[in-house]
Amino acid sequence: MMGCAGVAIPLWITAAETAQTRSVVLDNVRIIDGGGAPPIENGRIVIEGDRIARVGPAATIGVPAGAETVDLSGRTVIPGLIDSHFHIENDAKLALRQLSHGVTSFRDPGQWDEKFDELRRMIAADGIPGPRIFTTGPHIDGEGPAYPADSVVARDAEEARRHAEESVRRGASALKIYYRLPFASAKAVIDVCDARRIPCTAHLELLDARELIAAGLHGLEHVTSFGVSLLPRSEAEAYRQAVLKSNDARRDGRYRLFAGADLDGPQAQALYAVLRERKPFLDATLAVFERRPPSPGGLGGTSPLSPPAPPGSGGISPPEAAKPDVTPMHVAGFAKMKQLTRRAGREGARVVVGGHTEVPFAERGEAPWREMELLVESGFSPLEAISAATSTAAAFLYRGHQLGSLRAGFAADLVVLRGQPDRDVSAIRTVDRVMVAGRWIDTARYRQY
Ligand SMILES: [Zn+2]
Repeated sequence: MMGCAGVAIPLWITAAETAQTRSVVLDNVRIIDGGGAPPIENGRIVIEGDRIARVGPAATIGVPAGAETVDLSGRTVIPGLIDSHFHIENDAKLALRQLSHGVTSFRDPGQWDEKFDELRRMIAADGIPGPRIFTTGPHIDGEGPAYPADSVVARDAEEARRHAEESVRRGASALKIYYRLPFASAKAVIDVCDARRIPCTAHLELLDARELIAAGLHGLEHVTSFGVSLLPRSEAEAYRQAVLKSNDARRDGRYRLFAGADLDGPQAQALYAVLRERKPFLDATLAVFERRPPSPGGLGGTSPLSPPAPPGSGGISPPEAAKPDVTPMHVAGFAKMKQLTRRAGREGARVVVGGHTEVPFAERGEAPWREMELLVESGFSPLEAISAATSTAAAFLYRGHQLGSLRAGFAADLVVLRGQPDRDVSAIRTVDRVMVAGRWIDTARYRQY
């Protein structure tokens, strides 16, 4: 399995050296456009300034006079990856490490705007055009918030509306509902999003996803946000009361909930009907929930460090600090989360890729890659996983007309790979070069971050 430590061709061009009017031609390259189409085997991409000018089979695309041509024989190019769920916390360098892994855009689903100052400063100091940063402002939560430091608390619908308007005023390009927000307040936030033409996303545990989606919610973070909508009413209420009493009740509780959930039962069928009708975005964040079965008779019993890493994992064991509890219940619960993600995709949910920053079975900065592998393990095709990380994620940013596809007129954000991720999605780990807004990034440098 290939890691990310391959030899990168140094190709960093400083701002001063980049003539914006000059054309760059990526030649003899396999092109995966991000929209789900089969690859163009012998393709050509013409980039002018920060945009893609032309894309297609080499035989049909002319080379502009004076263009700089880069021969990418044997390489595959895909749109820059978009991580729909990246928590910056206090680690600006991690965003740049992810950039070296091909993540040219990310959305942080709940944070104060000041937390991005350091990253913005580093981007400006290095004179690079990315990663593109999308923010939501802090979570809009109810009383007893799950993450007090990252939240604003709304006590009623009017407070929720005011918090929502304030976050938009300060630059949020989406808003995030957190699970203690009561329904009327959540609806007030959705209404602000509709008025401001931005998406509203949510982490749900206490509210029923069916009701929120029917009320206009655009997206969901975590497949576990479907939790209570899968249960008979009395069981859903028992789970709600446990989480209302203690936010920690969801940690094991959601694995137990999923392990016992009936994905063909009447509650699930009602959920699928809403998904078919409304087609919300689903940012499943499977990688953060990943639990692997203990090795049979292996050393250390249930430790996730003991079993050999399965195919597609890049040979990765989790760092000791991230070692999760693993019991058969956790393993069964996680298997059901993957099944529901696939089923939701078939029923109409538009699945995107959110890496969730730090996850048990990915090394630093590799969570989005692991999420793509888990989508394929769940039954998505590799091309579907690539679309989830590119064109569908761009649509969830409401930037589907600018980002996430290798099409004429779109931003020239792209990743050159040594492997073929349409055949084996783990080839997403074979990043050779990364371009943002028409400029090559010094990947070797940011891999040290
Ligand atoms: Zn999160």
